[in-house]
Amino acid sequence: MATDKVIGIDLGTTNSCVAIVENGVPTVIPNRGGYKTTPSMVAVTEAGKRLVGHIAKRQAITNAENTVYAAKRLIGRKWHSPQVRNAIATSSYRTVEGPHNDVRIVLRDKEYSVPEISAMVLQEMRVIAEDYLGAPVGKAVITVPAYFNDNQRQATRDAGEIAGLDIIRIINEPTAAALSYGFGRNLEKTVAVYDFGGGTFDISILEIGQNGVFRVIATAGDTFLGGEDVDARLIDWLVQEFKREHDIDLRQDRMALQRLKDAAEKAKCELSSVRETEVNLPFIISSERNEALHLQKPISRALLEQLSLDLIERTIDICRQTLEDAELEKRDVEEVLLVGGMTRMPRIQQAVGEFFEREPSKGVHPDESVALGAAIQGYALVGEEHEMVLLDVTPHALGIVTQGGYFEELIPQNTTVPTHRQKIFTTSRENQTAVKILVMQGEHERADQNELLGEFILTGLRRAPKGEVEIEVTFEINADGIVSVRAKDLDTGLEQSIQVTASSGLTRDEISSMMHEAKDQLVDRRSSEELEAAKQEAERLVGEIERLFPQVEQIVAQSDFGREAIDKARVIVDRAKNAVTRKDVAMIKEQIEGLARTQRMFKGVVAKTI
Ligand code: AMP
Repeated sequence: MATDKVIGIDLGTTNSCVAIVENGVPTVIPNRGGYKTTPSMVAVTEAGKRLVGHIAKRQAITNAENTVYAAKRLIGRKWHSPQVRNAIATSSYRTVEGPHNDVRIVLRDKEYSVPEISAMVLQEMRVIAEDYLGAPVGKAVITVPAYFNDNQRQATRDAGEIAGLDIIRIINEPTAAALSYGFGRNLEKTVAVYDFGGGTFDISILEIGQNGVFRVIATAGDTFLGGEDVDARLIDWLVQEFKREHDIDLRQDRMALQRLKDAAEKAKCELSSVRETEVNLPFIISSERNEALHLQKPISRALLEQLSLDLIERTIDICRQTLEDAELEKRDVEEVLLVGGMTRMPRIQQAVGEFFEREPSKGVHPDESVALGAAIQGYALVGEEHEMVLLDVTPHALGIVTQGGYFEELIPQNTTVPTHRQKIFTTSRENQTAVKILVMQGEHERADQNELLGEFILTGLRRAPKGEVEIEVTFEINADGIVSVRAKDLDTGLEQSIQVTASSGLTRDEISSMMHEAKDQLVDRRSSEELEAAKQEAERLVGEIERLFPQVEQIVAQSDFGREAIDKARVIVDRAKNAVTRKDVAMIKEQIEGLARTQRMFKGVVAKTI
């Protein structure tokens, strides 16, 4: 009989890990070889046999063309995207463009979509769990980098489905790590999770509250910055050295390149524990005169650090920005957790420690905590006895394109999910009977700099001589971070909606030209009136609170509780002022509630003492 237990899977760029909560204890499940992680590699042999995990990794050198690694870098991405161009420039397997502008991987003349490849890895993780539990497994929680956009999340969900798993939730990797850190410990802490894995970098700042509430305050990252970039630096250096000595480009030879890759990664890992190592690759290539050539190079930790320093610095810049977004100071972060294999590199630990001005915690296991967190979340979702609330945020702003190619944000970055927001737009052209809604994700003011998630057309609008038909647009993000959008003609009640799906089938050029067509686009008219009203209300309340501040402070400053209330009021006022400066209607409206509460409380305090 199938177990109703939920497994947690960390689907990593380089390695994957599966865990489960048993009798209330989160446990990583080892694979048949006894390893707790399994390489996220898939291969097809000459005989057509499919290999996954360690067995695929072992034959990668001799079968480089038919061995896929780091598929996570391609998942949910468009063929033409710079990230895909960049990734396939160094891959040893062949890729082609798919029918929806997606990426297809060719193994022994058969094309596979990226979710299909990831599904093979997920299936392997499922089998590892089933072997251990002795029963079929149906449900899973899968983790993704916090910075994954909607397309990447959808594609990961697809992979889960292809693997025959019921994906009950997708959660962010750093959040999962924080869950495994805080689970059952009754902590009250603000923590930063610095997650540097094989292919991605993420940073999240969370507040762990009593009663098991985990609230993400801010999150950011770079889905194209990982350990593989560090490996690439070392490979470049080795290739150059070899060229200088023998005038031969090792990149010409796929097998040599694959051997170099393996050796570079191995050397990098060794240099985390020793100061000097050697890359030794006998018979790497033949010279023009058919002599066998060898590559033998000592590499010091200092050299590796020098080659990767700017990459490390990039992660620190993102940390700095995220703290700012969270409106926190370094000293507000009480614990720094390190996740991802790359955080074993001493120079990284040092850089993180120096930036946050505190020694990173050893409280989580860099390879296992994400899968453990996923299992904990799964356990909490199906088990009624366990109280745990996870409040995550959306890593990217969401909105639509308005006239002139501008991006009109409906949901700001770092908004707690699930959430929904509504806004009214008007049509721009006379007698316009259809409107095209382009749904975008990103932080740029210019729409074409952001990621297109999907599009739909609302037809049958009432013909209005001056345009100006009112359209209400509603965005919804569910707990998996997946987006759906609805548009409604307020005149006729006509409604259209989409769950944004992975591939729009549009090229960048098509998107660009669509955006620059002024017709059939929406104008944001109401928002200025709405903004003005919200601004006035917020400013009135801020003025009132600030006027009462000195009096209230004097009255309540004696007690801890009173001081806390004063601090909270200051935060609310600051946030409201910030929202007014940013002219963010939704954010101002959110703050008005808190302001009104504070103002009432202040008035109450003053009235009681008169
Ligand atoms: P993850 O995606 O968390 O599995 O991280 C994998 C990345 O961590 C790969 O780039 C590995 O080469 C790297 N890694 C694993 N162990 C070490 C180590 N001891 N020192 C440096 N990097 C490591």
